[in-house]
Amino acid sequence: MNANLYSVIGLGVAVSFILALKGLSAPKTARRGNQIGAVGATVATIVVFFDPGSTKHHNTLLILAAIAFGVLVGVPAARKIQMTQMPQLVALFNGVGGGAAALVAIVEYLNLSAEGTPSKANIVATVFTVIVGCTSFSGSVITFMKLQELMTTRPVVFPGGRFLIAATLAAVLGTGGWTIASGGNTPLLAMGLLSLLFGVLFVLPVGGADVPIVISLLNAFTGLTVAASGYVLQSTLLIVAGTLVGASGTILTRLMADAMGRSLFGTLFGAFTAKPQAATGVTETRSVKSSSPDDVAILLNYAQRVVVVPGFGLAVAQAQHTVRELADLLTAKGVEVAYGIHPVAGRMPGHMNVLLAEANVPYEQLVEMEEINPTFPQTDVVLVVGANDVVNPAAKTTPGCPIYGMPILDVASAGNVIFLKRSMRPGFAGIENELLYDPKTSLLFGDAKESLGKVVSALKNL
Ligand code: NDP
Repeated sequence: MNANLYSVIGLGVAVSFILALKGLSAPKTARRGNQIGAVGATVATIVVFFDPGSTKHHNTLLILAAIAFGVLVGVPAARKIQMTQMPQLVALFNGVGGGAAALVAIVEYLNLSAEGTPSKANIVATVFTVIVGCTSFSGSVITFMKLQELMTTRPVVFPGGRFLIAATLAAVLGTGGWTIASGGNTPLLAMGLLSLLFGVLFVLPVGGADVPIVISLLNAFTGLTVAASGYVLQSTLLIVAGTLVGASGTILTRLMADAMGRSLFGTLFGAFTAKPQAATGVTETRSVKSSSPDDVAILLNYAQRVVVVPGFGLAVAQAQHTVRELADLLTAKGVEVAYGIHPVAGRMPGHMNVLLAEANVPYEQLVEMEEINPTFPQTDVVLVVGANDVVNPAAKTTPGCPIYGMPILDVASAGNVIFLKRSMRPGFAGIENELLYDPKTSLLFGDAKESLGKVVSALKNL
């Protein structure tokens, strides 16, 4: 392909990625943004086969086989996955991206070493790509396991953990320096293995409220890895795409850390400074007050203001349409209804906004945490639909617990609180919620969609 045409197509693809990000920044335009990004990525994948600067066209068959394998694994996985499992899939895809960039950089480096001595700039870029890519890969695998509940979701801390992390980081940097100084292959591979270990140690102590921030950080890492591998491969497109992911991931990490009142350092190393909570070994003997759908309907019918607090259970139950039906019914009866949206409700940033937008809930009814908190004292009923950690007062009262310091939706200051959940099981952070035993709280046990359906029917009969 003509070099100028190749560059113009590359420029078009870069612009499409920027437009995609712009589109993704608002719910109304997100779908279009996603489509623009997908078209750009497809064009970018095809156009590299016609790169006039590349001398490696003899690998075409291998590349096509790898793409076919990726399609065979990726498409069914993405189609089959439940919406609630999307965050783990994204974590895994993200990690695989970082790992792939690291592997490509290693192979390219070994090729260059076989042909002669790679330039210092190339070695530095390779070292960066391998460290960050391997860390991102193994860290994302641990996040995947936490989100999939294949391992505990609580912080994993052990004596001397802080020193082990510091020693591993020192060893990673040491082997990195050695690679740069010697240009050898052995220190590079040792550095890759140590970086994999560092990724695991880096994410293990993170738990509860901090997991979303780390997912976002690893995502930013992958972007930077891809950008650096673009330098190694001399691909402008990879540099642009990687930088965009790195920059937007960094901004998202900052926004999430701010929303959670966390510093990045505290997020990553907080578990080591907090006192681990010992299991009390005491079996809970207090009883909770349970309600029937009819009781809830009556309470809602006489309320002036109702706030719905959606959480992960709303997504599990796919109750977004039913909750909207209930809200419409209440609005028609003259009740003021709003939704209180916590920044980390659910399992991915914006999870609740996406679900409620799918059910066409008017956007103005979605109220952010800082705005809705002062209104709870004037709220008659709060319906907590499948949320737990985001309303758990332990975040304020129990130093050392995995969500301590996380701002919460202050539902305890409302007149009545109704939890819709299936059992007494805790939320993602794995900790007890005192609010369930509060005299103003009652529980409507069952799947959120079924319970809401029964409340809607009861309300229609009033
Ligand atoms: P939680 O995980 O704290 O609680 C979910 C609640 O939903 C549980 O009490 C569960 O109880 C209930 N539930 C589950 N399925 C159903 C169902 N079908 N019907 C009714 N209830 C159901 O969710 P929150 O949204 O309150 O908090 C999010 C947590 O996830 C935070 O700790 C956050 O840090 C973490 N996180 C968030 C990410 C993000 O980016 N948003 C990413 C990763 C983690 P029961 O089983 O008894 O029904």
